[in-house]
Amino acid sequence: MWKKLRIAILLLILATVALNTVRGQQQVRDWSHTIQIAIFPLNGDDSPATAQRIAGLRQEDFKDIEDFLAEQAHAHGIDNPRPALVSLQPALDTLPPAPPRQHGMLDAIIWSLKLRYWAWRQPAGSPSAHIRAFVIFHDSERTGGRVPDSHGLSKGRIAISNVHVARNMQYTNRVVIAHEILHTMGATDKYGPDLLPRFPEGYAEPEAHPPTPQRFCEIMAGRTPVSGHEARMPESLSECVIGRETAREIGMQP
Ligand SMILES: [Zn+2]
Repeated sequence: MWKKLRIAILLLILATVALNTVRGQQQVRDWSHTIQIAIFPLNGDDSPATAQRIAGLRQEDFKDIEDFLAEQAHAHGIDNPRPALVSLQPALDTLPPAPPRQHGMLDAIIWSLKLRYWAWRQPAGSPSAHIRAFVIFHDSERTGGRVPDSHGLSKGRIAISNVHVARNMQYTNRVVIAHEILHTMGATDKYGPDLLPRFPEGYAEPEAHPPTPQRFCEIMAGRTPVSGHEARMPESLSECVIGRETAREIGMQP
């Protein structure tokens, strides 16, 4: 009797979690409403430069992400004056679990569960957010200009972006943050193993003749094709667009 009851309760919890996951995924693909995106800064290396940078962050610093989503939504025919609202939240002090060193499927699943558990213990954001973007700042001048890889999970709608403290990197940081936010909405990467944008879905204007150089970067391809074997990082979101395939994945296109 007790065993059956325990199993029933467990199944109920699992069903609730699954239902919330599906409902959350639907909400972030419904562009007729305002999608609330909360940005939580974190200090990735405990350096004074990073702490100072985080203390100086302002809401306006993330406005270009909101504007980018609005412009792209309108370009894809969404008739909503404010499809996304980005809000800066207080900094957090517990870092998320580090991604696995190996690239095995099981390692990835365990890490994803640990990450969702970590995120579940963090604030929901104010106003209560549909998407939480955790932005980890690193003083990359101390690490040879490198920061760890970033990740965006559609299950749990969690984006983890590793970005640079240096002010001259702030615009490219926001390209990374926007890319990971779009992953939480269901967008997939559009670059190949060589990191070059895939044709046609990774090209902002696949119908252009000649196809390269492209004028813009498709945000999920992450780079602007310069030639068939060369691509460059965009300097800001003003050089990026949401391509047709990404728009379809995130519900901006039927
Ligand atoms: Zn990606």
